[in-house]
Amino acid sequence: MLNNFELLPLHPTQILKTMYGKIKKHLQNELTTIKEAGLFKNERVIASPQSAVIKLNSGQEVLNFCANNYLGLSSHPKVVEAAHKGLDIRGFGMSSVRFICGTQDLHKELERRISQYFKTDDAILYAACFDANGGVFEPLLSEDDAIISDALNHASIIDGVRLCKAQRYRYSNANMEELEDCLLQSQTQRFRLIVTDAVFSMDGNVAPLDKICQLAEKYDALIMVDECHSAGVVGKTGKGITELFGVEGQVDIITGTLGKAFGGAIGGFTTGRKEIIDILRQRSRPYLFSNSLPPAVVNAGIAVFDLLETSTVLHDKLVANASYFMETIKKEGFDIKKSQSAIVAIMLYDAMLAQNFAAQLLDEGIYVIGFYFPVVPKDQARIRVQISAAHEKEHLNKAIAAFVKVGKALNVIK
Ligand SMILES: *Cc1c(COP(=O)(O)O)cnc(C)c1O
Repeated sequence: MLNNFELLPLHPTQILKTMYGKIKKHLQNELTTIKEAGLFKNERVIASPQSAVIKLNSGQEVLNFCANNYLGLSSHPKVVEAAHKGLDIRGFGMSSVRFICGTQDLHKELERRISQYFKTDDAILYAACFDANGGVFEPLLSEDDAIISDALNHASIIDGVRLCKAQRYRYSNANMEELEDCLLQSQTQRFRLIVTDAVFSMDGNVAPLDKICQLAEKYDALIMVDECHSAGVVGKTGKGITELFGVEGQVDIITGTLGKAFGGAIGGFTTGRKEIIDILRQRSRPYLFSNSLPPAVVNAGIAVFDLLETSTVLHDKLVANASYFMETIKKEGFDIKKSQSAIVAIMLYDAMLAQNFAAQLLDEGIYVIGFYFPVVPKDQARIRVQISAAHEKEHLNKAIAAFVKVGKALNVIK
């Protein structure tokens, strides 16, 4: 008997073409809409390692003020050396998920170091924090439970919540009255989990974790914080928001990334209560069904914690750099959001102005990006500056001078 395929005279690639035509047209229209709205994202291409000073593929050398390289570890010699060593001693790839044959001594050591750093029971590694957040809710909570989420939480938290059947509650950014309302409304649910970013990436403000802890205790709720822009940055020695508020041990779940302050390559983690981590190892889908981190990345991660546990010089320099930049740029007349992190939101409000401002700064040798709708609310366009321990005083001064020059030219400051 002939099946349908044998009856068709078309070659498979022709079939594909016929079927692609409709969606191709649709996608082209979508792309045109994005471009016409001025929202198309072009990627600038870098032809050097990540650092304070980078070279673009045009040959232009610029100062980088938009990397998540808060501690300057992305190209730190000790981190690069540890990555080489990881490659030498444990090879290139694991070719396996963790529970089959993807767990080396290095993975266990890095997990131990992460939980030591955050003063938690245990930690579990993921390919990225996007996966950590994507795989944390569904194994722990069901339709009998409630997730209470800050409105400005990261996209990966929003997606993770979508994958879970728990009831959803949302409060305006850092609004503790609304959080209390959500807690009251969800009292009939079995478990309640409050989830928040530690540092909100668009404004640089921190979540009021002291008050969240009080409310969690009063209304019997668990707490999860995402440390991505906070770990290595916030707190007396940079150990994140639990150190900042002195609430170590009170947060049940912490998620974080190795892709920002901690070396900037790839990798994420969840750290917290023992039983929670134990269940994630059994049930978390991005952990069970996705490849184990490569040894070079893992060994470099261990080196990052070696550096941070033995000295606070990088964090001290970051804090000094951030406060110098914020104070000076404010004195020059710029309107900046109140920040307790290494993120400085310089408000311009208008999307075209923000794009124009960033383009002119690039001509002055300063690499920053304008942020506008839909990344931030309409009429809240801004330039987000990220300070690093890799910046020297002369870099900060050059950036400030460029902001002043362009700010005057574009009538943003007098
Ligand atoms: C960057 C970021 C993530 C994603 O981290 P990756 O490791 O890059 O996937 C998750 N949450 C927050 C708050 C972030 O800023």
